[in-house]
Amino acid sequence: MSLHAELHRHLGGSVVPRILWRYLVRQDHPLAAEYPEYANFEAFFTRPRRSLEEYLELHTLVEHVQTLDALPYFVSRLIRGAYVFENLAYLELRYTPYLRTDRSLSEDQRIDQMAEVVKAIGEASRSSEYPIITSQILCLHSRLSDKVNRAIVDLAANSPGYVCGIDVAGGDAHYAQRLDTFIELYKYALALGLKTTAHLYETVDGFYPQLLPYVCRIGHGIQIPLRFPELLPQLAARKQCLEVCPTTYIKTGTLQNIGQLRPVFERCFEAGVDIAICTDNAGLHDVRLPFEYENLLTNDVIDFQQLKACQESAFRHAFAWPHPQAPQAMLEIQTVL
Ligand SMILES: [Zn+2]
Repeated sequence: MSLHAELHRHLGGSVVPRILWRYLVRQDHPLAAEYPEYANFEAFFTRPRRSLEEYLELHTLVEHVQTLDALPYFVSRLIRGAYVFENLAYLELRYTPYLRTDRSLSEDQRIDQMAEVVKAIGEASRSSEYPIITSQILCLHSRLSDKVNRAIVDLAANSPGYVCGIDVAGGDAHYAQRLDTFIELYKYALALGLKTTAHLYETVDGFYPQLLPYVCRIGHGIQIPLRFPELLPQLAARKQCLEVCPTTYIKTGTLQNIGQLRPVFERCFEAGVDIAICTDNAGLHDVRLPFEYENLLTNDVIDFQQLKACQESAFRHAFAWPHPQAPQAMLEIQTVL
């Protein structure tokens, strides 16, 4: 059995529709009333959206449900599914901690509560029954204040047992006005010893070459090989890895078919730029990691040898593998690999 590493998965998009729907029903949530039949809810939840903007609205929906007291429920089920159905040995889970805090509190109180969120997720993701090595990536957000984003970097640096790095999310069209601020925050994070990734070059609205020198990996980055292949040698020299999430580009309307990813892989392999294949939102898409692999193979985007190279890249570019605090049972997984 081969074991896999997943480097790009959002907590909000990780909840499979049935788990979410059951939770909504139990909580008498208005959406459960709107979709009393599961099949209709699944169709609503997983249907392709017209744009990245519209797609991100679904994240907001899930974020509102993933409150501090509900997080252990969602995370424990996520880990169980990832272990049983995806053979994950390693998982980096990303989310914006501020958006899981109590909305009735003040900004300062919410900032304080973020540490509890990190701890709740960290504890819920460690399971002796389903021993996946996990770590968290905390996402800065293009719609949150500078103060909150800086507090997220500080929290990441102060939580080495749970957190390995930072990301920036919220739609790559929204970084432009505050790009200098994000660059400063990334420099600050690197100085604190954190690893960095960022949603960049995902869509045609997300070209920010100024941020590229400050990221260890690139969230998506597919527009680089597609539109700016001249940048690839720089990426190779910096040993930056692309986190390519094939189903996302279809769901957001960025690409029309998966075959359009062929030049992404070809040009990266040729330039010596590593690619890790990831799910982004396995629950929201209803596509787990092994099926992302299989889709690429059956559509002749990559061959088995290239798949193996991508799978190895995922472990090589993992921010927290091996996890320093991993219990012995988890460390033993490594000897299998
Ligand atoms: Zn993402």
